Amino acid sequence: MSNENTLPEHADVRANFITHIIDEDLASGKHDKVYTRFPPEPNGYLHIGHAKSICLNFGIAEDYQGLCNLRFDDTNPVKEDVEYVESIKQDVQWLGFKWEGEPRYASDYFDQLYGYAIELIEKGLAYVCELSPEEMREYRGTLTEAGKNSPYRDRTVAENLALFEKMKNGEFAEGKASLRAKIDMASPFMVMRDPVLYRIKFASHHQTGEKWCIYPMYDFTHCISDAIERITHSLCTLEFQDNRRLYDWVLDNISIERPLPHQYEFSRLNLEYTLTSKRKLLKLVQDKIVDGWNDPRMPTISGLRRRGYTPASLREFARRIGVTKQDNVVEYSALEACIREDLNENAPRAMAVINPLKIVIENFGEKEILTAPNHPNREEMGVRELPFTRELYIDEADFREEANKQYKRLVLGKEVRLRNAYVIKAERVEKDENGKITTVYCSYDPETLGKNPSDGRKVKGVIQWVSAEDHLPAEFRIYDKLFTVANPSAAESLEEVLNPNSLVIKHGVVEKSLINAQAEKAYQFEREGYYCLDSKDGKADNLVFNLTVSLKESVAF
Ligand code: ATP
Ligand code: MG
Repeated sequence: MSNENTLPEHADVRANFITHIIDEDLASGKHDKVYTRFPPEPNGYLHIGHAKSICLNFGIAEDYQGLCNLRFDDTNPVKEDVEYVESIKQDVQWLGFKWEGEPRYASDYFDQLYGYAIELIEKGLAYVCELSPEEMREYRGTLTEAGKNSPYRDRTVAENLALFEKMKNGEFAEGKASLRAKIDMASPFMVMRDPVLYRIKFASHHQTGEKWCIYPMYDFTHCISDAIERITHSLCTLEFQDNRRLYDWVLDNISIERPLPHQYEFSRLNLEYTLTSKRKLLKLVQDKIVDGWNDPRMPTISGLRRRGYTPASLREFARRIGVTKQDNVVEYSALEACIREDLNENAPRAMAVINPLKIVIENFGEKEILTAPNHPNREEMGVRELPFTRELYIDEADFREEANKQYKRLVLGKEVRLRNAYVIKAERVEKDENGKITTVYCSYDPETLGKNPSDGRKVKGVIQWVSAEDHLPAEFRIYDKLFTVANPSAAESLEEVLNPNSLVIKHGVVEKSLINAQAEKAYQFEREGYYCLDSKDGKADNLVFNLTVSLKESVAF
């Protein structure tokens, strides 16, 4: 039986196995408030997979009027950086979530963690081991074979305390000693075979500086951080399923305040054509295959933002994919559908001509200022002015000298409607010495502004246009998927599966109202797609537009 009705109707998170557990915990009085956390390691920018976890953790806190912490899981100073810390904060806020109090850092708890390590040593549950990393691997055994006890396993408490102190004081070289939990070298769960709790790293830490040369491992740090913060439901991805045993073992064996947090695992987001591994994304950045972590082709939150995705679209995506324990791969079109629906509803309309072809309306006189609605169904979004002049640009693809009836655009001798303006007729063309059309001479029907021709002529096609005399030049960055295969993670080398056409640049024109375009706020360029001003290279005097998403789902490779 599910308790779905305890969730508000417009909940961020659709009812799932975790919300059912929470419902039961609240109903039974096990907890009276839900407290979650989002625990990124600041070793890269957040990606769409993290968005799923953010929406789940913060969404649950919102839905249940609970709390959610942002906690940097910063136990590996070598790979971490404050640049990542800052980008993570920005991304979580941009998605529209608010963490409880100040951001937390696992490194805030290094003193307490050290104290709990001493407690384990004193209880005979941890020892300093001097096996080398290679030897340790050998001793660990395999999935089918039990491991062997370390020769250092039976040191006395006093000896272990003294040696751990030496580790902390920098008297061992890196790799020469570690603190290990004394659990069971024959456990069927590899993580329980005397896991390392502390290792030596002579590295400066972005939060604690030079204070420490021993750093606690994830498994030891995470559970204790959760308990210190009074987290009730600690949500993580399925690869940590076995680690839950160690999570519980550590907490059960230290004198930390009860009730203890509990870990629950859900399946990670895998998205077609997309890498969701910070390590691999970092490689794309380092190899300069993309223009940084926020390249609009990157599946990072900052890349999606620069591309024109909205927070609402990503939250809706997370809501739709839901939360389960089944591994699966989400179709790329599911993500695109979310932004398309949002922008169809909310993006102002504008006109752009990506491949300009000049037309001259020979029977037209002085410039006229026409007006056009910013949105076809939303009057409150207002109108804008469009200068209509004798010379205009239309798209090359919207004119043909001859065409069959399926082609509902401009054809020599036939009529078409210019969007938000008049019906025109193509009269003749001018070509250059290579036979390329340079200008189309047209006539217009002055009686057709906002109405059909009075004699009943039917004009079916509508095309966009921009004044040739009064426009803004613009660069269009037309993006496609970064990879040619649905599962790039499986490729031997990423180079081989890179899509050579993932970025195509065109130069064209846009209507003048776009002088006011704001970076990252998408417009619908009528008949072309959704585009937004690039936040890095786009300026009022150098309009660079990124394709957010096409108007319709495109055909796959
Ligand atoms: P990566 O594999 O990209 O390095 P990670 O798991 O190491 O990811 P963390 O910074 O540790 O990255 O992740 C923070 C949180 O986000 C964790 O709770 C993790 O489980 C979750 N998370 C990471 N990737 C995904 C994903 N693809 N889908 C859902 N949740 C994810
Ligand atoms: Mg991780």
